[in-house]
Amino acid sequence: MVLVDRARFPRDKACGEGVMPPGVAVLRKMRLYDPVLATGAQPIRGVTYRQPGPGPRVHVPFPAPPDGGPAAGLGVRRTSFDAVLVDAVRREPRATVREAERVTGLIRDRAGSVIGVSTTAEAIQARIVVGADGLHSQVRAWAGLRAPSNARLRYGLAGHWRVEESGRDAVTVTLARGHEWYEAPVGPGLLLVSILTGRAQPMRARDYASVARREVPSLRDSDLVSGPLGAASFHQRVRTPGDGRVFLVGDASGYDDPTTGDGIAVGMLLAERVAEHLVDFLGGRTSRADAATRYTIDHERVVRERRRVTQLALFLAQSPRLSRRAIERAGRDPRALGKLVAINCGYQTFRDVTAREWLLLAGI
Ligand SMILES: Cc1cc2nc3c(=O)[nH]c(=O)nc-3n(C[C@H](O)[C@H](O)[C@H](O)COP(=O)(O)OP(=O)(O)OC[C@H]3O[C@@H](n4cnc5c(N)ncnc54)[C@H](O)[C@@H]3O)c2cc1C
Repeated sequence: MVLVDRARFPRDKACGEGVMPPGVAVLRKMRLYDPVLATGAQPIRGVTYRQPGPGPRVHVPFPAPPDGGPAAGLGVRRTSFDAVLVDAVRREPRATVREAERVTGLIRDRAGSVIGVSTTAEAIQARIVVGADGLHSQVRAWAGLRAPSNARLRYGLAGHWRVEESGRDAVTVTLARGHEWYEAPVGPGLLLVSILTGRAQPMRARDYASVARREVPSLRDSDLVSGPLGAASFHQRVRTPGDGRVFLVGDASGYDDPTTGDGIAVGMLLAERVAEHLVDFLGGRTSRADAATRYTIDHERVVRERRRVTQLALFLAQSPRLSRRAIERAGRDPRALGKLVAINCGYQTFRDVTAREWLLLAGI
């Protein structure tokens, strides 16, 4: 296996840096949980939703996984997290990591089938190409797997702040008018603060620090130590996540919005699924077509319900009145919101939401 990345690790990227509990479960299976924790990653045990100022707030603990693992996620710097993953690949005897090398296109045979990639260094022949090249995946476009999206433009900025406080073990989401703030502990005394917003409330990167200090109470006396880094046009769609020659994983395989903070966990779950099917193909136990069909089914299973949670979260977040009512009701009875968090973790489905819980979510 050859892993090619245009970046040199450790590299940073705009991210909320919260790894949801199902992602932590994958890390444990890969025996990478302890190395990630050793980088200073912070356990995250739930999410607090609030409105600005003295508005309502509610805390929802992460649900216990059905298989009995711990009910906790992690807040971790992407520089550290991705470096641990890349180091693990480096230790694999049959894997080669090539950094600072950009993939520039797909190589096809005379019949048009993909048989490798070209890079800034050379051409690499491959039986399978896995495109894990992120939100604006070029592999997706080159392979003709991109589907149109007509979603509203959203963008985000994320920066790191040195804070005095310690012991924070929850992500805090502040639903402000037309934008959301996310705070996550990602290291000792280090807080990640990101803003997600739409076109109607443009915020320039150079205003990020002053606006964050004004709107996020815990930052008033804090220093911005890195960033902000930005990302935009979150909503990406694919015709299919795998066509038998090219398989797409993570954001490259379609994405909705960072609002539910599960992109890393979903990426790891999809990587597990694609690996299983490709091992079967390369071992001669299944055909390309079957591997693609199975991955497409698994992909749908991993993302379908989570996408509905994201749509619901975006719907509530866009209306301060609706989100206020939902937070107020959840403050009195957090079961419905807890169920949404459980669905987003893949532990329950929308079929488990009762009529009464739908009314609670609607603030009725
Ligand atoms: C503001 C914001 C907040 C977020 N908050 C969270 C959160 O709290 N929790 C969460 O789980 N997710 C969050 N996300 C989403 C999360 O960042 C993504 O879902 C996740 O990083 C996707 O991982 P990936 O491996 O698919 O892509 P990436 O992490 O983007 O990695 C893609 C890699 O491909 C490489 N690459 C790209 N093009 C090429 C090329 N042509 N040749 C070679 N290499 C290439 C890049 O260098 C990069 O290393 C957030 C995103 C944003 C923007």
